[in-house]
Amino acid sequence: MSGFSFTLNASDGRARTGVIRTPRGEIRTPAFMPVGTAGTVKAMLPESVRATGADILLGNTYHLMLRPGAERIARLGGLHRFMNWSRPILTDSGGFQVMSLSELRKLTEDGVTFASHVDGSRHFLSPETSMEIQRLLGSDIVMAFDECPALPATHARQAEAMRLSMRWAQRSRDAFGDRPGHALFGIMQGGVERDLREESAEALRGIGFDGYAIGGLAVGEGQAAMLGVLDYATELLPAGQPRYLMGVGKPDDIVGAVQRGIDMMDCVLPSRSGRTGQAWTRRGQINIKNARHADDPRPLDEDCTCPACSGYSRAYLHHVFRAGEMISGMLLTWHNLHYYQQIMQQMREAIAAGTLDAWVAGFHAMRAQGDIAPL
Ligand SMILES: [Zn+2]
Repeated sequence: MSGFSFTLNASDGRARTGVIRTPRGEIRTPAFMPVGTAGTVKAMLPESVRATGADILLGNTYHLMLRPGAERIARLGGLHRFMNWSRPILTDSGGFQVMSLSELRKLTEDGVTFASHVDGSRHFLSPETSMEIQRLLGSDIVMAFDECPALPATHARQAEAMRLSMRWAQRSRDAFGDRPGHALFGIMQGGVERDLREESAEALRGIGFDGYAIGGLAVGEGQAAMLGVLDYATELLPAGQPRYLMGVGKPDDIVGAVQRGIDMMDCVLPSRSGRTGQAWTRRGQINIKNARHADDPRPLDEDCTCPACSGYSRAYLHHVFRAGEMISGMLLTWHNLHYYQQIMQQMREAIAAGTLDAWVAGFHAMRAQGDIAPL
C-alpha cells in the first residue's frame, strides 16, 4: 500500500510508539482522534483542534451520508476541503451507528436497511455501499463494515454477529480494491468471548488489512471487562500494523489500553463532556456547574497551557455555563481535548524513554489526590 505506512519506533512492555505516514500527514502513535461527527468537532475550529495536538480526526459515515450526503460532499471537493481539515481523517463504516441510532432496521446477509433518524427516509448500508460512501468522503483510513450487537448478548448471538462481520470484512476488502495512499482497517468482533475474539482475529489476518481495530468494546461491559479483553486481544493482531480501539474512552481507559498495546483511539467524551460542564484534568473530573466554583479565581488546572486555563478562572467558567453562553462549551472542549492530547504526548515520550510504568504510577497517584480543595 504505497503512501500509507506504519513504523514502530520503540516499545515499553506491551506499549508501543511509532508513526503512521499518509499522504496527508503523519499520525504519531499512540494517537487520540477527536470525533468530528457531522463534519465538525463540536465547538472547535479545525485549527483549534490541531492546536491541541491532534494529528487525525474521525468522521461518521452514518451522519454524513444522511446529512449533507456523501455525493454532495464529493461534489464540493471531499470531506477534508468541506470541513477545512487538511490532515488525515478516519471514517467509521456506519455499522455501529446504524444499529444504535437509526429506526426500522432490517438486517440481512446483504446489509442493513434502515430509516434515517433525521427525516425518516429509507437507506441501505452494506460493505459495498459503505466502501463507496467512505471513498466519496475522501477518507484516508476506511473502516470495514461490521455488525456490533447490542449488549447483553449471548455467546451464540455474539458468534453470529462476529461471523457475519467477518464475511462483511471480506466483502469490504474486495470492494475497497487497491487505493494507493488510503488504508482499510478490519474490525475484530466477539464481545468479551475469548474464543470468538481468536476466531475473528484469525479471519481478519487471513483477509489482510492495513490496520486492525478492536470493536464491540466500550459498549457497557465496564472497564475491567474491556481491559480483560485487551489483555489478550492485541496480541492476536499483527505486531507490524496499527491497532485501533474503537470508542474509548475515559483517560484511565486510554492509559490502560496503551499499556496493552493499542496505537489509536477515538471518543466523543472530551468534546461531549465539555458541552455539559465537565472538565477532565490530571486530578480527575471537575463539574464546573458546582457552586463551589462560583467565587474561585483559580484556573481549572494551574499547570495546563490551554486557552481555558491560561485566560479564565473557574468562576468565569462556572458563570458562562450557568448563563448558557456558547463560550462555555468552547473553552471546556478545548481544555478537554488539550488534556487528552497531553496524555498521549506524555505516554509517547515515556514509551520512548522506557519509563511508562513510572508515568502510569504518577498518573494514577495524581488522580487519587482528587481536585484541589475549595477555597
Ligand atoms: Zn486547560
